[in-house]
Amino acid sequence: MTTEWTEVLERLLSLQQLDSKIRRLEAELYRAPGDLKVREKAIAGFDAKMKVLKDRAQVLRAQVLLRENELRAHEGKIEKLKVQGSEVRTNKEFVAFRSEIANEQGECDRLQNEILKILDVVEQAEAKVAEFEVERTHEVDMVAKARAEILEKLADVKAEVDGLKKDRPTLLEGVPKEQLQLYEKVHAARGRAMSSLEGAYCSACGDVQTRNDVYAAQNRTRPVLCGGCNRILYQS
Ligand SMILES: [Zn+2]
Repeated sequence: MTTEWTEVLERLLSLQQLDSKIRRLEAELYRAPGDLKVREKAIAGFDAKMKVLKDRAQVLRAQVLLRENELRAHEGKIEKLKVQGSEVRTNKEFVAFRSEIANEQGECDRLQNEILKILDVVEQAEAKVAEFEVERTHEVDMVAKARAEILEKLADVKAEVDGLKKDRPTLLEGVPKEQLQLYEKVHAARGRAMSSLEGAYCSACGDVQTRNDVYAAQNRTRPVLCGGCNRILYQS
């Protein structure tokens, strides 16, 4: 019995080593696409910022068009007033026309100023869009590169995991069914099925073990399960 459990324990420890490696690699497989998502989010961020700016520029350009129409109307009016003004007979009429033309001209100046100011803002927005476009292109390149690297890495890791899984049945040979089931159960529930003893304590959960169990684990006379986490205890 003594020899038997020692042997089984050795096999289970090898099994745990392999399972830990698989778990680590699988965590990598899981993490990798997450890294990519962060980069893809950055691209979406640029798209959103650019959309805001483009929408704003569009609204502003529409405002420019409105003012340009208004401006043309005032300019047309001035032309008309000038023609009419050339035919006045009295000084009073002349002054009235001149004042009306001046008013119209004032409106034209105001509109022209506004148009220039708006176009200035549009230009700034469009320059910013162009800037974002460059940054976005860079980010897209980075994503493509990162994706290629990740896919390559994932393929490597996947191959390694597959290889390890293929090795697993060999390690199971000779392990009694009952003890194997115990291992698999804790492995499935806790990730790691075995835990080393640190003095009288389980190194995984910190629970203190009875003196009998510590003794049995140290001497490998029989399977000892941690009272706290159910892991198979061993003295390393
Ligand atoms: Zn424990």
